[in-house]
Amino acid sequence: MTTVHGYPRQGPNRELKKAIEGYWKGTVTADALRQTAAELRRSNWQQLADAGIDEVPTGDFSYYDHVLDTSVLLGAIPARHRAAVNADALDGYFAMARGTQEVAPLEMTKWFDTNYHYLVPELGPDTTFAADSTKQVAELREALALGLKARPVLIGPITYLLLAKPAPGIDFEPLSLLPRILPVYAEILGDLRAAGAEWVQLDEPALVQDRTADELTATTSAYGELGGLVDRPKLLVASYFDRLGDALPVLAKSPVEGLAIDFTGPAAANLDDLAAVPEIRSKRLVAGVVNGRNVWLNDLPKSLSTLAVLLGLADQVEVSSSCSLLHVPLDVAADTDLDPEVSRWLAFARQKTAEIVTLARGITGGTESIAAELEINRAALESRANSAVTNNPAVRARVAGVTADDSRRAASYEERSAAQQKRLELPLLPTTTVGSFPQTTELRTARADLRAGRIDEAQYDEVIGAEIREVLAFQEKAGLDVLVHGEPERNDMVQYFAEQLDGYVATQHGWVQSYGTRYVRPPVLVGDISRPTPMTVRWWAYAQLQTDRPVKGMLTGPVTMLAWSFVRDDQPRSETARQVALALRDEVVDLERAGAAVIQVDEPALRETLPLRQADRAAYLSWGTEVFRLTTSGVRADTQIHTHMCYVEFGDILNALDEMDADVASLEAARSHMQVAQELGEAGYPRGVGPGVYDIHSPRVPGTPEVVSLLHKGLDAIPAARLWVNPDCGLKTRGWPEVRDSLQNLVAAAREIRAE
Ligand code: GLN
Ligand code: ZN
Repeated sequence: MTTVHGYPRQGPNRELKKAIEGYWKGTVTADALRQTAAELRRSNWQQLADAGIDEVPTGDFSYYDHVLDTSVLLGAIPARHRAAVNADALDGYFAMARGTQEVAPLEMTKWFDTNYHYLVPELGPDTTFAADSTKQVAELREALALGLKARPVLIGPITYLLLAKPAPGIDFEPLSLLPRILPVYAEILGDLRAAGAEWVQLDEPALVQDRTADELTATTSAYGELGGLVDRPKLLVASYFDRLGDALPVLAKSPVEGLAIDFTGPAAANLDDLAAVPEIRSKRLVAGVVNGRNVWLNDLPKSLSTLAVLLGLADQVEVSSSCSLLHVPLDVAADTDLDPEVSRWLAFARQKTAEIVTLARGITGGTESIAAELEINRAALESRANSAVTNNPAVRARVAGVTADDSRRAASYEERSAAQQKRLELPLLPTTTVGSFPQTTELRTARADLRAGRIDEAQYDEVIGAEIREVLAFQEKAGLDVLVHGEPERNDMVQYFAEQLDGYVATQHGWVQSYGTRYVRPPVLVGDISRPTPMTVRWWAYAQLQTDRPVKGMLTGPVTMLAWSFVRDDQPRSETARQVALALRDEVVDLERAGAAVIQVDEPALRETLPLRQADRAAYLSWGTEVFRLTTSGVRADTQIHTHMCYVEFGDILNALDEMDADVASLEAARSHMQVAQELGEAGYPRGVGPGVYDIHSPRVPGTPEVVSLLHKGLDAIPAARLWVNPDCGLKTRGWPEVRDSLQNLVAAAREIRAE
């Protein structure tokens, strides 16, 4: 038997995105949107069935996000959205997702350690639940009507509650709602059973994170209660992204009939753990052996040996993806421009589906029955292992020669800061920005025109140069101390570098959903990384020519370069990160040589790719901070290294920031009222800090008194000699008018405090 947890929703040409955005604009009717959606579901199921998948998932389709769909399924509609939902279910749904003039949307955050974002359920002590199985039942019926074996997929009660957040201003534990939510799940399961579901899948990925004893007890009682229902479908509880650990025996002992378990990446540890769980013997075991979140060809012999072990532990073993295929693009074959040598190493959703079917044939019919597939797989794996792309001797030799001194600056922070002060002569509370200035329509149009051949490189450069001059003129006039060029030449902070580094490839059609109708095409880090030529020096030097004040060099750090790419899986991430760091180190040195006195290396994703399990975090942070130092330690004492990170909860990586040894760190802080400054102050953080005083997530302009009061708070924790004044993050998503006013107020506030 074969199955998958879910499939990409967008369609081969992002038809869903176009239909939904058309609906928002009023050019596509609700009926036409529904029609497109139904058509896409049908063709996805047909594709899966034609490929040989025995049981297709249903209910994984979404107009926006499947966590939001679960909130609707459970009737967990926040009070502020109820009127919109009652007026029109579809418009109300989009109001929850995107907000309207009158009401704010639900908060959005990252789905575990992936780059998919979900809408956070907003629950309070007064939340009432009420089953609305319409969507789930309808989609199940559609699949059954095609004559397919189908299994509805829903988010399970424990994960749903653990992902939820108390409504603003309420101190309350969402998991306490479990007794109230279980009867609603029971009703939904009943509805699905009545509609013909033999099995229902409940996703519980939250159980792969460290869970308290109380949370595990709640899991026991939840599945005890759902398992005890009469006249229900059989239950398959799915987990993915990491090992189940203590939750494995809890689920195995529960009365559910099946478990879907991830055996890839860090979750491979489930294989050993399962041997200690005899209850698995009589359950349906859906084995996630094909990685659902990377883009690499499966190592079929390795998967077959995992499956052989599992066949010894359970009577009913099925082959599946490790998680929903939502996280990978649809079809490698669509990317006809890819180097054929590289494309044979890749597997997107369609290729992964074929691998699943092949593996299942291999365990029923024996390896002889898949001899041809195994031969193709062997040849592709061998080509990848031996390719010049994945084995650049110069890069390998250089990484092997890295010494501890390479990732340590020669001078102490005290010596450095004295030398830098002498060189830069900055005032107290220096003002700066995080890097990007508004990406105007003009810039975007110029980029599109260049791609389409409507303008040539020289004309494009003219637009970029003019923008840089304008950005600098504004900053000088506003009175900022350390200037930036504004990043107008960058489409994206990772892609811009990936396009210039050897070892990365770009896809034309490799779209994956980031959130709602936003799809991204992450670059694919396939091979050994090197930098053929300097990447940022030209525009930096152009910018510095326009002004006497220091212009910051601006780079994306190695951890972030990996976090927002599809990264090769044939060597440890730390090794790949070291290669990227060495390429960036050369860029840092070249910037210094060109005259840059301040260089910023952004690591906004350091917190994001923190491993899900506490036990794995120290090792990750150790290499994650080491590669930052490797990137930045090639410069003189009087060259000032900045870093930037943006997220609110910061406690987890306070020590990591210290390990990075940057001279100055700008951090998101405006929304949390400088809490970061407090935490850093208490921890005795010894270097420069710029806790953000301007929340760039909203068009709101902070007034001078507001910035003054935030800076006073900052000064309570950080001495004036080390406090910087800057926004929370880059300004690329903002408009010029609000940016102008906000930065002027920010400078005015710094001056006011200096005068005190
Ligand atoms: N330098 C980048 C910018 O200003 C940083 C972006 C980020 O932190 N996400 O756009
Ligand atoms: Zn940021």
